[in-house]
Amino acid sequence: MAIRQDDNRPNRRFGIINLVLIGFGVLLLFSNFLPNSAAQVPRVPYSLFIDQVNDNNVKRAYITSDQIRYELKEASEEGAPTLLSTTPIFDMELPQRLEQHGVEFAAAPPQKPSFITTALSWVVPPLIFILVLQFFARRSGMGGGAQGALSFTKSKAKVYVPDEESRVTFADVAGVDEAKAELAEIVDFLKKPERYAAIGARIPKGVLLVGPPGTGKTLLSKAVAGEAEVPFFIISGSEFVELFVGAGAARVRDLFEEAKKKAPCIIFIDELDAIGKSRSGSMGVVGGNDEREQTLNQLLTEMDGFAGQDKPVIVLAATNQPETLDAALLRPGRFDRQVLVDRPDLSGRKLILDIYAKKVKLSSSVDLDKIAQATSGFAGADLANLVNEAALLAARAYRTEVEQGDLNEAIERVVAGLEKKSRVLQPDEKRVVAFHEVGHAIVGHLMPGGSKVAKISIVPRGMSALGYTLQLPTEERFLNSKEDLEGQIATLLGGRSAEEIVFGEVTTGAANDLQRATDIAEQMVGTYGMSETLGPLAYDKQGGSRFLGGGNNPRRVVSDATAQAIDKEVRTLVDTAHERALAILRHNRELMESISQQILEKEVIEGDNLKELLASSVLPEEARLAA
Ligand code: ADP
Ligand code: ZN
Repeated sequence: MAIRQDDNRPNRRFGIINLVLIGFGVLLLFSNFLPNSAAQVPRVPYSLFIDQVNDNNVKRAYITSDQIRYELKEASEEGAPTLLSTTPIFDMELPQRLEQHGVEFAAAPPQKPSFITTALSWVVPPLIFILVLQFFARRSGMGGGAQGALSFTKSKAKVYVPDEESRVTFADVAGVDEAKAELAEIVDFLKKPERYAAIGARIPKGVLLVGPPGTGKTLLSKAVAGEAEVPFFIISGSEFVELFVGAGAARVRDLFEEAKKKAPCIIFIDELDAIGKSRSGSMGVVGGNDEREQTLNQLLTEMDGFAGQDKPVIVLAATNQPETLDAALLRPGRFDRQVLVDRPDLSGRKLILDIYAKKVKLSSSVDLDKIAQATSGFAGADLANLVNEAALLAARAYRTEVEQGDLNEAIERVVAGLEKKSRVLQPDEKRVVAFHEVGHAIVGHLMPGGSKVAKISIVPRGMSALGYTLQLPTEERFLNSKEDLEGQIATLLGGRSAEEIVFGEVTTGAANDLQRATDIAEQMVGTYGMSETLGPLAYDKQGGSRFLGGGNNPRRVVSDATAQAIDKEVRTLVDTAHERALAILRHNRELMESISQQILEKEVIEGDNLKELLASSVLPEEARLAA
């Protein structure tokens, strides 16, 4: 990590480990005193015991639950012991066998535990429990200060104090210029609080960074601390919420106390929604509610509390669901500033790729612009991951530089999860997957929607995809026309339609396609007002979870008739697209067969080969979209 952890506590962990070791030593000592008369009786394999029984050489046997002790009639050789023991095996025939061979045998009565065993069983578990508690309590302790043996109340925040060579700065964050510009102000507050105080300006206390995971919210916060050269406390909202009511609140108090000692500084709370969920709207949350509410209240109190401080403590918090936050958190004086940290656009992706490409050896032939184009929708973390994957691929192939091909393959890895060569499809399954994917490809090629089919593969990847059709956008698009969306739905249904035509039945493989197709249709009607019968009304309430990919927005209050009309319209959109996909594939049946045949042989078709194949597809009249 690029930042030094400020660890000024003495080495207490050593003490704990010693304690545990001593505990174990004591236990071992005790266990030696335990009645253990078997110690002197030689132990033999069970099979030998049985052999000896079968040879009629066993005089008598004494059977307990964990050993069999027995006496031989005569020793195997001069001077060998006649008293032996073995470990019993679950053997129902043993009594019969012993009887047959005239062995005198008895079983031990269930043992009465000795005083020491009883005492140990009472003393040791609580002892261990206390040791464990102490261990965790100390480990979660932070900074100096005396603490009791059972302190759960210490915040678990990590503190970073930026030093010269490991400082994260704004230069390490790319593609989020607006967010950077807004946060530059915060840096100024932290650096020169006097200037603002002199004029009587109130320095903001809380800034909420809003955006999907992996877009660099944590990194940005670190950069603010790095730019201002102040300490940085980082904790996740979920770490506050604990089993014990009150622990979270105590931790918040502790965190702010520590922070005030180090002011000016920054506290970064990741996943603020873990504590900040709306108190009114959180129905269905079982348990933990009290605890969360107390923690939240404490946070609000603390934020209101440090008003008069001349050295600012600024709280940055991250969330990807701002709409779930309690309104009290967003009030003036709390998180009254919101900074959007969204996924980077084309030029932003290029800049981020540049940063990470510098960290690996890149071949001079690599064209990062192409990579940026092909990674629409990637967040900064995905891009960092992508470059690393490419470097791993190159290293695995004993190359000294990362090449374009590595990056291309890495894209697919990041998109579709790691290649799982181990998962083998049955031949008939493979046929279904092949036709399914070719169905997507042909329909996708003929339909508008801004993407060109770049690759068809029936190599299973990741968790669920059995095959996939990779469509790359030809240009960065922010707007989709109605025809584009209709085309996308038809493309999504292309897989299932191919299965219907060729096999006359459908499989479960199309579930995700149907989900996405229905989502698009619903948004066309409900959000984009694209339905002619229903008109340009937004039936879905916007402001739903826009960062989680839309989907189930709450519907505006509508009459039953309208609700029915919406459902009908969605249904019509999907049905029409389905008919369109079927028509296209019926018309291009021969082509579909021949591409499927090829893909069954090669598993992957891409590039010029694919382009040529798809070029011979024909759009039938009945599938044409009204443009
Ligand atoms: P978040 O907090 O938004 O979930 P992080 O800040 O933890 O995301 O990002 C994870 C990692 O991804 C960072 O440590 C960094 O390596 C990389 N990363 C994400 N966004 C960017 C960006 N805009 N510029 C450079 N690197 C980024
Ligand atoms: Zn599919």
